[in-house]
Amino acid sequence: MAASLVGRKLLSVEDLDPDQTREVLDLAHEYHMKFVVPQLTRPRRLDILTGLDMIGLFYEPSSRTALSFRRAAMNLGMDAAIVFEAAEQTSKAKGESDADTGRIVSPYTDFLVVRSPVVEAVREIALASNIPFVNAGNGDDEHPTQGWLDQLTLERELKTRDFNGLKIAFLGDPRFARSIHSLAKLLALHYEGVEMTFVAPEKLWPQEELCQWLSTRCRFKGCVADLKAGLEGVDVAYITRIQAERFRDSQPDLFEQLQAERPKFRVNNTLIEQVNPDVLLMHPLPRVDELDPDVDTRKKAAYFRQAANGVPLRMALIHRLLQDD
Ligand code: ASP
Repeated sequence: MAASLVGRKLLSVEDLDPDQTREVLDLAHEYHMKFVVPQLTRPRRLDILTGLDMIGLFYEPSSRTALSFRRAAMNLGMDAAIVFEAAEQTSKAKGESDADTGRIVSPYTDFLVVRSPVVEAVREIALASNIPFVNAGNGDDEHPTQGWLDQLTLERELKTRDFNGLKIAFLGDPRFARSIHSLAKLLALHYEGVEMTFVAPEKLWPQEELCQWLSTRCRFKGCVADLKAGLEGVDVAYITRIQAERFRDSQPDLFEQLQAERPKFRVNNTLIEQVNPDVLLMHPLPRVDELDPDVDTRKKAAYFRQAANGVPLRMALIHRLLQDD
């Protein structure tokens, strides 16, 4: 049996060991059967965590993460409040520190979720709080619940729970996309036989440190700047948008240069048909222009199902963080 998760603060996919990861994913599969598969007959709410509540502080925009956390908490019988634009709408705007925010919010709720553009801010709020906590995206670092829901999606789409031998290409922005960081780490942590490549303009290749770490844990094949070559022969293409908000203001020249390169990295139906018609297509969304909507009707376009999987995964995680059985 996996060690209990009750009361834990989760900042990274590395915070769950293999047994805990498996336990959360198994429960997520159960919640998927109850809440995602039956469109019309799904229960409105379970009575599992009735009387408890969740607060989400979002210092950065969010659609899927914030709303699926809310839905997940409500499906478990909880109340949920999300503060969007938290930098303007909380005392942060008056100069309150992140540590004080963590201290202040703890007695008001049972479970705290935070997203911030500042990598360290999420950690500071977590450290100062004394309730179960989940990082909902900290700058360009990690987005652990996206990683776990992506693994849930891979398991459902590929009908396996063993990813040794799987070939996955991460496309778009492996330098700044935290969703890539979380899924790449998660797969490398648990499957030394997984094969991965990063496909992007050279300026968006990930930091050397991550590449080194991946090389010691799995079959890391390195980075390529050619979309066709990167797509060829892989089982999964995990596409992301260029995370322009991370560098548009601080590095305007880089932003301009990448704008010019965008057309070379666009995935569309013609390209998929030519290069790899069987590839499973995933994307954490939102998309901008890196993934043409003409791909949406392909059977193996999994990204909308992937987004829906956010609810059962987050239900399983909240359940395990607040209660053992
Ligand atoms: N929604 C994901 C995130 O918050 C992916 C993205 O924004 O591109 O990281």
